Amino acid sequence: MAGNGGAPAGFWGETVQLVGAVGRAMSVTLKNLFRKPVTVHYPDVKRPYPDRFRGILALAYEKDTGEEACIGCRLCEYVCPPQVIKVEMLKGQKRNYAKTFTLELYACEFCELCVQVCPTDAIIMMKSFDLATADRRDLLLDKDRLHALGLQFEPSWATGNRLRDMQAPPKPARGEARGEAKGETKEPAE
Ligand code: SF4
Ligand code: SF4
Repeated sequence: MAGNGGAPAGFWGETVQLVGAVGRAMSVTLKNLFRKPVTVHYPDVKRPYPDRFRGILALAYEKDTGEEACIGCRLCEYVCPPQVIKVEMLKGQKRNYAKTFTLELYACEFCELCVQVCPTDAIIMMKSFDLATADRRDLLLDKDRLHALGLQFEPSWATGNRLRDMQAPPKPARGEARGEAKGETKEPAE
């Protein structure tokens, strides 16, 4: 009898809990029904990228001469952790070029090391990630495609030279600077 007496109380208790939970869930739904949408109709509508956004990789031309900036030095190939870059150097009289340059973007880690080591700011990241495709082969980028991407999208601020400047050793600490200054003042006294 005691068991029979407890069953209805459990039933009603659970029903009250359920109705409470549904009520709370519906209140959240109702609140969001009248909120401004936070999504956009991509790809018709694109969000502005943040200033420091760095996305797909591309090759750049020199600003002054319009020549290919890449000198085929292969530093990017050596530094790339997953080894997705392959470069062949073409020796020229005044400077060298990349004879071939391929980048397997589908296996890229976007670590930016290739950008950081490039002495001529030839390989850069663009302010876009917009290269979605259903065919993996579309992401095997050759030199022409990399140059075309460089013209198609806005480059990010981060070039190899800028990044290396940021990583340069810091200036001497104040104490050291003061020590040097004292040394300089002592010399004339001797
Ligand atoms: S971003 Fe990193 S993983 Fe991608 S190509 Fe450059 S070095 Fe390689
Ligand atoms: S992209 Fe830069 S680092 Fe890579 S081969 Fe060309 S010049 Fe050298």
